[in-house]
Amino acid sequence: MANQAAPGGPGPGPIDPAASPRWAVRGRIVTMDSGSTVLADGVVWIADAAIAAITAAVDAAPAGFDGVTPLQTGGTVLPGLIELHNHLAYNVLPLWQVPQRYTNRDTWGNSAEYHQLVTAPMKTIGEATELLPALVRYVECKALLGGVTTSQGIALFSAPGIRRYYRGVVRNVEETSDPQLPEAGSRIADVQASDPQAFLAELQHKTCFLLHLSEGTDDAAHQHFEALQLPAGGWAITPSLAGIHCVALTPADFSVMASHGASMVWSPFSNLLLYGQTANVAVALAAGGAGAPFKIGLGSDWSPSGSKSLFGELKVAHVYSQNNGTPFSDEEIVRLATLQAAQILGWERELGSLEVGKRADLVVVAGQDDVTPVKPLFAGDERTIQLVAINGTPRYGTPALMAADGPGVETLAVGGEQRVLYLAQSTEDPDVAAVSLAQATATMTDALANLKTMRLAQEAAQPQREGLESLAAAPEVQPGHPRLALDEFEHTDITQRPHLPLHGAITGPIDRAGATAPVEPLSAMLSPIALDHLTVADDPGWLDSLVTEHNLPDYVLPGLRALYAPAPPTLTSS
Ligand SMILES: [Zn+2]
Repeated sequence: MANQAAPGGPGPGPIDPAASPRWAVRGRIVTMDSGSTVLADGVVWIADAAIAAITAAVDAAPAGFDGVTPLQTGGTVLPGLIELHNHLAYNVLPLWQVPQRYTNRDTWGNSAEYHQLVTAPMKTIGEATELLPALVRYVECKALLGGVTTSQGIALFSAPGIRRYYRGVVRNVEETSDPQLPEAGSRIADVQASDPQAFLAELQHKTCFLLHLSEGTDDAAHQHFEALQLPAGGWAITPSLAGIHCVALTPADFSVMASHGASMVWSPFSNLLLYGQTANVAVALAAGGAGAPFKIGLGSDWSPSGSKSLFGELKVAHVYSQNNGTPFSDEEIVRLATLQAAQILGWERELGSLEVGKRADLVVVAGQDDVTPVKPLFAGDERTIQLVAINGTPRYGTPALMAADGPGVETLAVGGEQRVLYLAQSTEDPDVAAVSLAQATATMTDALANLKTMRLAQEAAQPQREGLESLAAAPEVQPGHPRLALDEFEHTDITQRPHLPLHGAITGPIDRAGATAPVEPLSAMLSPIALDHLTVADDPGWLDSLVTEHNLPDYVLPGLRALYAPAPPTLTSS
């Protein structure tokens, strides 16, 4: 079947229009610019979706802001978090209790328990067209509540052979319709993934390709990298290649990556949960020269084997760094999720730091720290986050910092504290726009509790599909019946990683359906699943569940418990 990536959704022009209220926010301004500029008491002035000025609080308002009173946050203002890797659609699912130590992506991807808890539920949800707006709303809000202003998109088949991405309020690295924000690739055709010259040619088509690379610790995982060496010499690696995971890469491999201008995306929690090991980021950092540092981004991967959002992944990066020779200061960790992520995307002129002329994507966290200005971002659970603005529009925050009523406004509680969401966006998918977070939560809770019933109905409508074989089958898409594109395990002719040949053999993926697949229908393996909570603040069992995650190094849980401990008292607007 054809799988052409096609532009979709409403109307021409950028997905995030250059329109926003004219307003200003006051606090400690941690710009994350290349000079690490901090204003101890400053104001970011915002108009038309961009940063119009940054001033000291004692300065007069800039021209055009007469009568605008800055919102006093008493907190720390940072650039919005840019997440470079997340399979967002899966974030309705709870953390998987990983049953053994795996050595590469194919070994767990073929396990029966994984099929039962992840792939069969996602296949069922993915075919339930009526659920998809609620799913998109829920997982996008989960990112937003973690301070994320940019992430990967949620792909769907909108019609037979036609793919597109859902449009919501969080920026999507793959679809911007904006020449200033070149669209990243995250999927390639299987034929390009298995032919070195075709793969190299494809890399040259985009500024950034986010592709899984050497996810695992064994030779099979490493061979995905080895196979990037071209038969005639040279490497199928360009500055556009951002390798996700890179767990199996050696110091020599990172030198090759660095010398070709490539970068990587680090997902330490997912790696540690599955493999007990993560990429050697200290070596990766050292591979870059002084004038051309090796660029690293951050991604939480997905909630079944990762953090709930990038907010949690920052903590894991901190804990890992503190226990492995401190390759990163806290500021450097925040840089992975801001300016360096923007550089990997080729978006650094527009995003990644708080600078005049850039898009106004920002996050405000409670508290200030004189010594380490970014430190409040690591403190406490998600209640730390006081305000999130995307493209100059406040999207989420405390009642003190958000307009508390009007169209598109919704209130919710996070860890017992009141918060306000504003989700209206003219370019949003209309079916997503029609769903509140409260409705999405109720819909997804009910759906996950009734997966077996849903699947039985799907099987009755399509009785030819049976067993694990049907998990990996390419989806049938009916006109008017969009469904999720689950390229993670379906044979869709599209892949999220290169698998070039090495010594005459393709370097995976191995057959995902497995040789011992039972013949019973998927409905037989489905049980009720609890919708994963949006935040750790509302999921007190989440940290406790890590006790039985046996692949995690011993230092991880105590480190995370300390960082999730209650944040300082919330500071509110004066
Ligand atoms: Zn992934």
